[in-house]
Amino acid sequence: MSNLSMAAAVVPSISSASSYSSSLILRPFKLLPATKPSSSSSALSLVLTCAAPSSKDARGGKRKPTSRRSKYGTSRRSTLKKSFNQEQVVFTAPVSHEPHVGIIGGGMGGLLCALGLEQRGFKSTVFDTGIHGLGGRLGTRTIVGGDKELIFDHAAQFFTVSDPVFGDLVNGWLAKGLVEEWKGRVGEIDAGGGGGFVPFPPIPPRYVGVNGMRFLADSLLSQSEMVNVVRPCWISKLEPFNGMWHLSENGKPCGQFDVIVIAHNGKCANRLLATSGLPLIARQMKKLDLSSIWALMAAFDDPLPIPFEGAFVRGVDALSWMGNNSGKLSKGKQSPECWTLFSTGAYGKRNKVPQESIPCETAEKVKESMLEGVEAALGMEKGQLQRPSYTKLQLWGAALPTNSPGIPCIFDPQGRAGICGDWLLGSNMESAALSGIALANHIGNYLETGGETPAAAEEFGIGLTTDFPPIQGHDIGQFSGLKNIQQPVQDALHSSVTVTV
Ligand SMILES: Cc1cc2nc3c(=O)[nH]c(=O)nc-3n(C[C@H](O)[C@H](O)[C@H](O)COP(=O)(O)OP(=O)(O)OC[C@H]3O[C@@H](n4cnc5c(N)ncnc54)[C@H](O)[C@@H]3O)c2cc1C
Repeated sequence: MSNLSMAAAVVPSISSASSYSSSLILRPFKLLPATKPSSSSSALSLVLTCAAPSSKDARGGKRKPTSRRSKYGTSRRSTLKKSFNQEQVVFTAPVSHEPHVGIIGGGMGGLLCALGLEQRGFKSTVFDTGIHGLGGRLGTRTIVGGDKELIFDHAAQFFTVSDPVFGDLVNGWLAKGLVEEWKGRVGEIDAGGGGGFVPFPPIPPRYVGVNGMRFLADSLLSQSEMVNVVRPCWISKLEPFNGMWHLSENGKPCGQFDVIVIAHNGKCANRLLATSGLPLIARQMKKLDLSSIWALMAAFDDPLPIPFEGAFVRGVDALSWMGNNSGKLSKGKQSPECWTLFSTGAYGKRNKVPQESIPCETAEKVKESMLEGVEAALGMEKGQLQRPSYTKLQLWGAALPTNSPGIPCIFDPQGRAGICGDWLLGSNMESAALSGIALANHIGNYLETGGETPAAAEEFGIGLTTDFPPIQGHDIGQFSGLKNIQQPVQDALHSSVTVTV
């Protein structure tokens, strides 16, 4: 079966799944037989079999999940040990008649996974922490003050298309008015080269969310009928019980699901997986390495005398990107000019602090370094740049993946759990979208088998031991087709301008 096909799925009829009954058989722990841990670890895996016995069972499904105590401690120090040594949960009962997938994370990956499942006829619930909206790293911040509005894309800035499946998706978004081509001048500045800006040619086209990237994310599910969204909600626990996954937020039950999808990464995912009963998935997640990036949103009362809307910056430690949101989002409305500035990953790593509580002195230091970085990039004297009338600093502590298994998704059929997200394929929105679509198709194919083991376990295991080589790209991700300054096309060189201030 071509279970990794990323082609748009048609809606199939759900094949018969045996009825679900709701008691738990706890079988004695035994050594994991079929699935071998990665060669990089000698950790022992144990198996917890989680089956649904016949409906005649006296408990009849009324029992609440018991708190199966972990035999390991809960300190952060032991998280790694817990991940590697925890028991593997194995679901042996068929999935429900109407399987329900729980998706933890409402970024591009999770949302497209939900949409893909809907196309296959499966319902899902997306849980996301977002207070203002969905989207995760598709973040747009709007600040309204008096008659003025400031608007910033404060993570993803724009995207290009390389994959035809993603291309079809983007065409659909263009038709619905969710995204548009960004015609602003975008290019590169090499500070070592004296502030010269080299524009990229117009091909490949660059796309942006029409009212910001978050608007795109919030619109994706607007017509879906089989996707439920719960936010803000921070899933803090996954528990296998009675043939189902039980999700909860700080002790508050959030529902039970036949299959779960981890559509986020980083420290949060590592904690969630540390005691989940999914050691193979936890181990893969642990291999991921993420950069840290500072974002400075800065509004200037007078337009900056800069002849471009976006530039990747080379040769400046505190700055890797500067983008003018007013050009692309405010559509010429009179307002201060809103720029998003990003540090390099190297600078982010050296100046990393807890992102929830940034010390004031760090914030001040980083802000000044980034503004000086703009001056350096533009070849200005120190202090020559207009002072911004508004600034907001944010640290993306888990910003972008620096390594990747290069596979569309990971799925553990024994534990009925999958992972999707940008990092599986690369470091951009396209990767996240393709990963979500691929996992939806994979889970769709799995659910159509009724989840019967062991054949399904053999056939559907994917990415559970793959290695993660480093990935290349800009500090803020990969943009297929954009020429970089080291290989400038002739036209770009000829139209190169020197920024004057
Ligand atoms: C500074 C920066 C600039 C970038 N610029 C670009 C760019 O210009 N172009 C581009 O293509 N890409 C860019 N990217 C990358 C792009 O944003 C990501 O590749 C993409 O958005 C990732 O989507 P995702 O679904 O994999 O993950 P995410 O967007 O991270 O989504 C995960 C979601 O899960 C939620 N979550 C986490 N834990 C839980 C939990 N326990 N319970 C519930 N919800 C949870 C998170 O809050 C989040 O909303 C940039 C990223 C950063 C950080």
